[in-house]
Amino acid sequence: MENGILDNEEYEAKTPGKRGAWHYVKKAFKYLFYALMTAAWAAVIFVIVIRGDDAIVKTPVLSARARALYEESPGDFEFYRVYPTVFMSEEGAFQLKNCVYSATAGEYEAGLRVAWTQLRYCEQCGRLYTPDQLEQQKKYDEEDDPHSCAALGHTLLRAPETDRTIRYEVFDSGGKVYETANTESRVKNINLGFFAIKYEYLRLDFGGLYLDLAQNIINRESSAASYDTGEAVSAGDGVSEAGDAGTRVFLAIYDAVTDDRLFVTCIYDNNTYIEELGYELPDRDYITQ
Ligand SMILES: [Zn+2]
Repeated sequence: MENGILDNEEYEAKTPGKRGAWHYVKKAFKYLFYALMTAAWAAVIFVIVIRGDDAIVKTPVLSARARALYEESPGDFEFYRVYPTVFMSEEGAFQLKNCVYSATAGEYEAGLRVAWTQLRYCEQCGRLYTPDQLEQQKKYDEEDDPHSCAALGHTLLRAPETDRTIRYEVFDSGGKVYETANTESRVKNINLGFFAIKYEYLRLDFGGLYLDLAQNIINRESSAASYDTGEAVSAGDGVSEAGDAGTRVFLAIYDAVTDDRLFVTCIYDNNTYIEELGYELPDRDYITQ
């Protein structure tokens, strides 16, 4: 206390009552504010941690045959990182991670993250949809003639609540379908009621792919001139030839029951960038076969 004027604390200590109550209300709000801030940050950190990818999705595994070829002669093992132009569906329900190609083994392996909680299952139609497809559906709705599941009032369930599964296929623009050489998969499935996520992390390895890398954009003399011709395939129309893209290789994802195509993207053509890499054998934890 100076000059006969009470500062706040002293005033409140000496005059309990109306002013004192306000002091405690202010304090309560202050602590409530701190508590809310802490909770918000904790929630953000929790979501970041929980949504982190399983390391398998970025770890090249290849098949047992390819790994044996590597062990025979590591110095001769030709191995590339591949950068597909379109590597995810619009809303990210499907996302490619760390795609690789072994020229020695003739294998292409894509890392794939499937955000199952984003996929929807329509009970009335018996079909799976990605968020992009449901958005697309709405475009055809007219006021008196609705078509989309949402406009028709159909029941859309989160796909993890159903037993629906998906399947994968790699094929090329010549119609050739490639066999699976190895598949590794890990699932993160957390359901707290108010918060649910289900991610599946895959390494999808396909064999019998002998790509003509001499024609790849990084190996072509006239790369600057031909760069613009390789248009990304649109999700809807699948296979199309573009310029000097050569044989195009696609990865498609289907509803395993109805065979509806949920996503397709070009994972390799002559205009897809590649980068030579050294292969490393994965930890045994990543190999199930
Ligand atoms: Zn429907």
